Amino acid sequence: MRVHEFQARQLLAEAGVPVPTGGVATSVHEAVQAAEGVFAAGGSIAVVKAQVHAGGRGKAGFVKVCRSVDEARSAAEFMLSHRMVSPQTPPEGLEVKRLLVASGVDIAKEFYVAVLTDRGSRRNVLIASAEGGVDIEHVAATRPEAILKQPLDPVAGLHPFAARLLAFRLGFTGKAVNQAADILLKLARTFVQKDATLAEINPLVLTPASRDHPDGQVIAIDAKFTFDDNALFRQKQVEAFFDPAEENPAEIRAHAFGLSYVALNGTIGCLVNGAGLAMSTMDLVKLHGGEPANFLDVGGGASEEAVTEAFRIILSDPRVNGVLVNIFGGIMPCDRIARAIIASAKSVGFQVPLVVRLEGTNVHEARRLLESARTEMPTMQTAWDLTDAARRIVAAVGRA
Ligand code: GDP
Ligand code: MN
Repeated sequence: MRVHEFQARQLLAEAGVPVPTGGVATSVHEAVQAAEGVFAAGGSIAVVKAQVHAGGRGKAGFVKVCRSVDEARSAAEFMLSHRMVSPQTPPEGLEVKRLLVASGVDIAKEFYVAVLTDRGSRRNVLIASAEGGVDIEHVAATRPEAILKQPLDPVAGLHPFAARLLAFRLGFTGKAVNQAADILLKLARTFVQKDATLAEINPLVLTPASRDHPDGQVIAIDAKFTFDDNALFRQKQVEAFFDPAEENPAEIRAHAFGLSYVALNGTIGCLVNGAGLAMSTMDLVKLHGGEPANFLDVGGGASEEAVTEAFRIILSDPRVNGVLVNIFGGIMPCDRIARAIIASAKSVGFQVPLVVRLEGTNVHEARRLLESARTEMPTMQTAWDLTDAARRIVAAVGRA
């Protein structure tokens, strides 16, 4: 599960990481009020930031550093009336429904720090770079040596000496060393305590030297967290951060019907039962030159309504040029699937090629039902096995 930056900042602040204060606004009026608050409190910068579940906001013009209330107003007006398009959003962009208006800081240097699970080494690992900010992807791709990696001890987490060493290697000096090391420790601890799958601060900034802080201050000004869905039952605070407005509507609808649906980028909709069969179906589609448009697992005991809903979800994706149904009827008999297919043909309509492969309980009854509905489903073909099914749908849709 993904959360908003303002929610991630809240978790960091609660863990004791220095984060500038800010407020959430859903209208220009609220944003202006929040900016007035920042300047009234003696701040010289208010930052207006779109709250969407995607990064790359700075380059897209959806993070604005403002020196006056008027600047904050125009930034808010722009962001709330334009969709944000960045390399991390769909091509049509994302609607911005909320803004964070935070007090800003002067920046001497930007760093990147994150904790995530490295499957290769089977450890949580802290990664850090002295070249943080909006070009970290470019740094990682072209100069991997500029990215430092520190595995976390599975029991003890990040050792304090390892945190200090990292702070030195990142180039912090004087009093900023301890501040940075402390933040790294708190970030690593929060990652584990909250069952996160990613805890990223980018940028972590060092402020310029001042009279009160001759070595500068280390402050987190952007945060991105994701969490393990399977742990949400014991993370009530995180669960409450869920924002349905930011999720794929089809995935939410599927969830309501007990279907596991993941949208992918291809053209072949796959309706399958069981995660293992779903995986092998996607493998076969790819092996034969196609690209799956989704992963849709109707599960073991789906009702006819749930299966009809599954077809509706698949067919509502304009990229879907064909549908492959691959069901092994066990607890769910094949004839129920056949009835759902026929019902969907009536209520939703199949304009695109449909390949059906059924096997298992009541398969003969299911085939009879499908045969008798052939005139209502001119685009339907039946297949005898998995390979035959994958070949047929790829032939009907065309290779990716
Ligand atoms: P992202 O582009 O979605 O990752 O959004 P960020 O919150 O990381 O902001 C992008 C960039 O805007 C940062 O790397 C900074 O260079 C700049 N920025 C953000 N907040 C501040 C701030 O408080 N002060 C200054 N001077 N720059 C900021
Ligand atoms: Mn950032």
